[in-house]
Amino acid sequence: MYPSVCVYPSALLYSYCSAVILSPTTMPPSPRHLLVAAIIAAFTARPLFAALAMPKKIENVVFSIAMEDEARPFVQSLGLAPQAGFFPKAAPFVAYRGKYKGCTVTVVTSGKDSVYGEKDGTGVDNVGTVPAALAAFLAMEKLGGEGGADLLVNAGTCGGFGKMGAGIGDVYLTTASANHDRRIPLGPAFEAYGTGSVPTTPVPGLLEALSPAAKPGVCTTGNSLDATPTDLEQMAANGAHVKDMEAASVGWACELHGVPHFGVKVVTDIVDGDRPTQEEFLENLGTAASTLQDALPKVIDHVCGKGHDEL
Ligand code: SAH
Repeated sequence: MYPSVCVYPSALLYSYCSAVILSPTTMPPSPRHLLVAAIIAAFTARPLFAALAMPKKIENVVFSIAMEDEARPFVQSLGLAPQAGFFPKAAPFVAYRGKYKGCTVTVVTSGKDSVYGEKDGTGVDNVGTVPAALAAFLAMEKLGGEGGADLLVNAGTCGGFGKMGAGIGDVYLTTASANHDRRIPLGPAFEAYGTGSVPTTPVPGLLEALSPAAKPGVCTTGNSLDATPTDLEQMAANGAHVKDMEAASVGWACELHGVPHFGVKVVTDIVDGDRPTQEEFLENLGTAASTLQDALPKVIDHVCGKGHDEL
């Protein structure tokens, strides 16, 4: 954003430059030249600087969603169409695009596994950090050709920490993301790189719009659905409210592109509860998916057309 305190001094400077450019080669400029320059400056400087001072509105929004089942209801409700050729040929990712209330919405999923397994892959969703970061990075690269993405929302399911107040079905809007399975004990710099903590863009208005279901919180990311005792220690050190397998890696890709980002995560299982994660995850995936389906249209309604400082 162009701070308004800079606008008027800049306009004065602009007027002065106009006067100099329009003045005759012999100095000082005649009163007639100064008058003409002042009139031109008065008519052109204000709109010019007003345009510079206007914060950019959000018009091009990317939703990064790992699993096809998580994305489908949102894609269908917005009537987005699959885009052949959006990603490079070798990429397994899927992109859906369309217009919504004057915004361009792009949903990218991590696609299906075609690499592992005996023949042509296992066919399961490419969950986890590597596909999510790569899909988000390529999507932002592609959108660079049309003015760039204004905002990226990483949406999906997550595990919640009961001790931090999370319950099944809660919607979390992230305040930051960090990694819990990147241990690099080679001094403070590598340790900080490993944790890779990144604050997300503040969304106080959206939190209000989604209340009372939504809560703010830190999302910790790793490549496993379960957690080892060492992971649990790092998750606590990260101050995590929820745990997923993508947020921190998508955040990294967004930071590289300078695209503001945050996560919308619905709790499917309680990490510090007494039920096995897999069992609870599968039991609640359906309800969590419909909560996500309920929340995401409200997210796009809220962000579309707003400035980043109005979220
Ligand atoms: N069995 C599932 C696989 C899902 S893997 C299937 O039906 O295909 C888990 C996905 O849900 C990841 O994208 C991850 O981000 C999210 N997730 C939900 N609960 C999680 C938890 N407790 N820990 C880590 N990721 C979780």
